[in-house]
Amino acid sequence: MRTCQSLSEIQSEIQSGNLTVSQLVEYHLNQIEENNGRLNAFLSVYGDEALQQAAIVDKKINEGTAGKLAGMIVGIKDVFAYDGHPLQCASEILNGFESQYTATCIQRLLDEDAIIIGHQNCDEFAMGSSNENSAFGEVKNPADETRVPGGSSGGSAVAVAANMCQVSIGSDTGGSVRQPAALCGVIGLKPTYSRISRYGLAAYSSSFDTVGVISKCIEDAALTLEVMAGSDEYDSTVSQTKVPDYSSFATGRKFKIAYLSETLDHQGLDKEIKERTLELVDELKTNGHQVEEGHISMLEYNLPTYYVLTAAEASSNLSRYDGVRFGKRAKSENLEQMYKSSRSEGFGEEVKRRIMTGTFVLSASYYDAYYTKAQKVRRLIMKETNKLLEEYDFILSPTTPTTAFKIGELKDDPLQMYLEDLFTVQANVAGIPAISIPYGVDSQGLPIGVQLMTRHFNEKDLLDISNQIITFKDQNR
Ligand code: GLN
Repeated sequence: MRTCQSLSEIQSEIQSGNLTVSQLVEYHLNQIEENNGRLNAFLSVYGDEALQQAAIVDKKINEGTAGKLAGMIVGIKDVFAYDGHPLQCASEILNGFESQYTATCIQRLLDEDAIIIGHQNCDEFAMGSSNENSAFGEVKNPADETRVPGGSSGGSAVAVAANMCQVSIGSDTGGSVRQPAALCGVIGLKPTYSRISRYGLAAYSSSFDTVGVISKCIEDAALTLEVMAGSDEYDSTVSQTKVPDYSSFATGRKFKIAYLSETLDHQGLDKEIKERTLELVDELKTNGHQVEEGHISMLEYNLPTYYVLTAAEASSNLSRYDGVRFGKRAKSENLEQMYKSSRSEGFGEEVKRRIMTGTFVLSASYYDAYYTKAQKVRRLIMKETNKLLEEYDFILSPTTPTTAFKIGELKDDPLQMYLEDLFTVQANVAGIPAISIPYGVDSQGLPIGVQLMTRHFNEKDLLDISNQIITFKDQNR
């Protein structure tokens, strides 16, 4: 039994006259109306605008001029610029800020007639793993509302899980699309670094930041990626590599897969997640794939490398929020004090922690000991990861060490919170594509996610294997 309805299925219903885009928007607005008060997934909802847009798209459909994404209702994380709409990165420091242009990835969706229904809650400046670091309050996991949805794209994962939109656009710097997707039981796709333009994505850590997609159906993730990817004159770091036809991915090919024993034997890994992942290994073998144990020696260096480098880049990127150019300005006697007070009052605790850590690792006396060292380790992690991927098409592991934890449980223990990212950061350190696929639930009914990583620009095969896994998971229901 299939567990989702893809955009192409929705479009067939529209074509056969059983459904209109306006009705779809109304449906999602109702879901938001009913659930958002409790779940807190959306920060702003653009209801009237979405309905007006829907009427235009319905007309285009009737005239045969609609784009590829006609009928797709999209929510965007509060880190994407959307002209004339608020953008706060879930932070007090951007209070009252409105975008003056639209992010390239969002514009490409609009150009294909997708409808943006609102901006979604997240951890402040995308820093966090639980969505508790938002200036707008925590987001709740629909599977158990006493638990976190993961982060930082928590609102985006919840919105898809609770049918408030068809697809969400999030950002993944260290797992922020995959980890909440795993904890909420939906798909989270992080493409290759540089596959999608970052123009209009508020920068957290520029050499790691990647635009990603959260959806229920794999077809929707593929199509959304296809529309957003590709070169952009506004972002010179975007790859010129041709965008393949991602949406025709289902070849059913047999692959060679390595499962990482260092992740499965990790002491912090929940027993039930381990069991499910091993079940998947068996299932893949039964289905004719070659699955073997693979090893990486550097797992324990992934997190320190990630946290040193991203904090360094964040301290530089976030220096622009000075109380002068954007959002909040504190009242003060003199200019220097105004900068200090604006930043002290505007940023939350976790963001300040990272800015200070980043400033420290970049300071003259410690630069070589931390920043340069971490850059070297990053290179070694990339090398080791790429080597394993020369031999295997995919690296399989759990997405997260635990299922959704209780709200408040890890909030005062940043190190424990950082451990949530243990398995996801490797893909960002190496810049490779990765996906989290929902793979059942634990004995408490909490979703479990499995992660696959692959070679640079091998998204098409990644979608193919994901589709196969989802298909046999659905058959086993
Ligand atoms: N949870 C990770 C962090 O706190 C990842 C964040 C992200 O991918 N934006 O940094």
